[in-house]
Amino acid sequence: MSVKRDEQLFVHSCRTDSAQGVCRTRGGESCAFDGAMIVLQCIADCAHLVHGPIACAGNSYESRGTLSHKGILHRRSYTTDIGELDIVYGAEQRLFKAIELTIADARPQAVFVYATCVTGLIGEDVRSVCRRATESFGIPVIPVEAPGFVGPKNLGNRIAGDVLLEFVIGTQEPPLQTPTDIVLVGEYNIAGDLDLVEPLFHRAGIRILSRITGNASYSEVCQAHRARATGVVCGRALINVARELEVRYGIPFREISFYGRTEMSRALRSMAEMLVVHDPAVIERVESVIRDEEASLQEELRRYDHLKGKRAVLYTGGVKSWSIIQALMDLGIEVVAVGTKKSTYEDEEKMKAILGPDAPLYENISPAMIRKLIREEGADMLIAGGRNLYLAIKEGIPFVDVNQERHLPYAGYAGLLNLAGEISQSIQYYEREKRANAPIKREVEKDLRPVLINPLKHSMSIGAAIAFQGIDRASVVMHGAQGCNFLGKVLLTAHFKDPVSLNGTKLFVEDVVMGGADRLRDTLRETESKERPDLIAVVTSGLAEVRGEDIVLEIREAGISTPVVHVPTPDYSGGLEEGYVAAVLGLLGLIEPVADEQSFEHASRKIILLPGSSLTPGDVNELQLICEDFGLNPVCIPDTSCLDGSRAGHSPVSVGGVAVSELIGCADASFTIAAGASMAPAAERLLERHRIPFEVFACLSNLNESDRLFTLLERISGRPTPSRYERQRRVLRDGMRDMAVRFGRKRVMLAMDAERAFQLAALLRPMGACVEAAIIPVATDYACMIDAERVIVGDLATLEERARLSPPDLIIANSHGRQAAERLSVPVFEWGFPAFEQPGFNSSVSIGYRGVMDMLCRIAGQLAH
Ligand code: SF4
Repeated sequence: MSVKRDEQLFVHSCRTDSAQGVCRTRGGESCAFDGAMIVLQCIADCAHLVHGPIACAGNSYESRGTLSHKGILHRRSYTTDIGELDIVYGAEQRLFKAIELTIADARPQAVFVYATCVTGLIGEDVRSVCRRATESFGIPVIPVEAPGFVGPKNLGNRIAGDVLLEFVIGTQEPPLQTPTDIVLVGEYNIAGDLDLVEPLFHRAGIRILSRITGNASYSEVCQAHRARATGVVCGRALINVARELEVRYGIPFREISFYGRTEMSRALRSMAEMLVVHDPAVIERVESVIRDEEASLQEELRRYDHLKGKRAVLYTGGVKSWSIIQALMDLGIEVVAVGTKKSTYEDEEKMKAILGPDAPLYENISPAMIRKLIREEGADMLIAGGRNLYLAIKEGIPFVDVNQERHLPYAGYAGLLNLAGEISQSIQYYEREKRANAPIKREVEKDLRPVLINPLKHSMSIGAAIAFQGIDRASVVMHGAQGCNFLGKVLLTAHFKDPVSLNGTKLFVEDVVMGGADRLRDTLRETESKERPDLIAVVTSGLAEVRGEDIVLEIREAGISTPVVHVPTPDYSGGLEEGYVAAVLGLLGLIEPVADEQSFEHASRKIILLPGSSLTPGDVNELQLICEDFGLNPVCIPDTSCLDGSRAGHSPVSVGGVAVSELIGCADASFTIAAGASMAPAAERLLERHRIPFEVFACLSNLNESDRLFTLLERISGRPTPSRYERQRRVLRDGMRDMAVRFGRKRVMLAMDAERAFQLAALLRPMGACVEAAIIPVATDYACMIDAERVIVGDLATLEERARLSPPDLIIANSHGRQAAERLSVPVFEWGFPAFEQPGFNSSVSIGYRGVMDMLCRIAGQLAH
């Protein structure tokens, strides 16, 4: 380091002892206590005990993205949580006891005890308590006297460095030394940055003896004084440590950065130049690593060529500003404005060295200023810290968080690829948001194995039985052998966790041989006399269908007065979805035509809702409520909202749902809304028979389709959207932008009925997730429009096979998919039929603004695992 530069540091940066001059702050930073914690808490095999009231520890708990392989204590929070009496009488005894308990709980290598404003103000002698504790408990207990009022975060960083110099560095000797041992100072391993950097040093034969402090163990910090060279990664924060290592132990230092290709290569070279006196071959090894890495990086970056020429506004702090500028320039991105509120004069010098003397630096940065700069400079993105995220979300600006809250490492060559990926993904998200979804058409593949392994498919009769649960006082009779009825009832009950109506004709051998007609007639008569239902639904199993019985004739001959809907549901054809649709079509057959077609007028506020089988009972309820909020009177066919867990008591007939009388009389409805791709034929049937116009929503599980629903409701009701939905929409839009980074480039596999797969894919795609494959049980008309890379008719073994070949980040499947996911060690989100383990599945809402937001949060929760 040149003398001139060193002098500048002394005056403007971190070397002076004057609190005012220590580290320039222009506001917008946290306190010294936080700064000290940022540095020291990375030492993850040490406990970190905050001595103060709850705010200091509570507000900072898990707020930093530092990762560690050396322990877990950086993620544990200990505080004395002092109260009023402690403030009056002093809390030193309490602190001593807290140290004892912390040691017992954490079994740490050392304890760092942090003074805070209140304990600093009341004059707690933290230092002497720590000394006593060290003697009593036999492990280092180290005071960190950086209460927030002494200055900004940067001062806290420096105090932490002083603490390390006073109490830690030089207190242990390494068991082994090499000529290329280095110490990294000021690297905090945010999001695992070091994982992308350390292998490069390792390949160049350079050993990182000590990390101060990202991914550090206590002992390696103790041994830092035996390093041959120091790399100062965040120049401003811990320059005092590097300087003292040079003064006390003769270890040279250089400032380096790991962000971007240029800086990473420069960092490797800088370290090699300092080490060459100990190992003459180090430069050659480093050059070889740089050659290989830069060549493969160049190749990999080709896929981000579209970023070249994009324009960025940058607002981050300290060393990050200039090094991120360099990283962006490595990607061909032009930096059109830089906020320097948190930068030192030295940082600014460096920025000018990179961007030229006319560098667009803006000290007086504010949200309004950022917005203005983006607009005036025609910027394509904002690169900043997480605190500016809200601004980007509100303004619809592509955004990448480069600060401590980020989730991806950006250091090293691989980190530059991550950064490029994040920027690209963010830009693409907003581009997707702007353009309307173009219809897609894919080829539907079939798994041709002659066996279903871990089937995804359910029978038509199950689908039909579900639909009939949505009719009030319906009795469902399954015409078949006893097992179908019994197992079907167990399955439905386990899924809905509610009593379901499902009886059976219980065919036995003699019925199969002689015919089961008697059995059906008897069952119908018995059902009518005992249960007195408003409707009897007859669903037929494969057994009855194969026997070729004339079910219609038998129903007629049963001579009962209760209306009967018969739905052929052989289990050798179709699946749950087809059975459900068949049942709905059967129900529509009950609607009585209007008496006088000439003088007939549709009831202006009555509409028919046709919810598909993919809607949860909670969804059906939500859809009805939305329609009612527009002053409409929806008749839901079937009204499966009654299966949301609200059924009380036990009844052999279904309870809740649409009344048969209401169903029969709904030919005067003015409009039909079909919710689900499979419901189009039912809507068409209403148009043909009753002249009721319709609109089909293949999916209500994304923003665009929800918008379309609300626009339609405004049109058919003549009323504006109620303000609470406008609010829900704003929340969803912000939430989507917020969560886009979590979903971006995540690879998901779906295994579920086609209609649900359609919905999930339509939910995930706009978020930037890639639906690698949708495994569906049955080929449907609209399967080719599922927005997945591959749509495959198969089973859960198909899912497992595909996922093994190319493991996704998440599997979304029914309860049975959990097994496959566990075997593959892939997180699973349980959704579909059956969903035994998904808490609140049946009352959950996945449609409309509120439901979409809820679904995204649930899925994001699983992705984070
Ligand atoms: S300013 Fe003081 S009270 Fe507030 S967090 Fe910092 S140390 Fe705690």
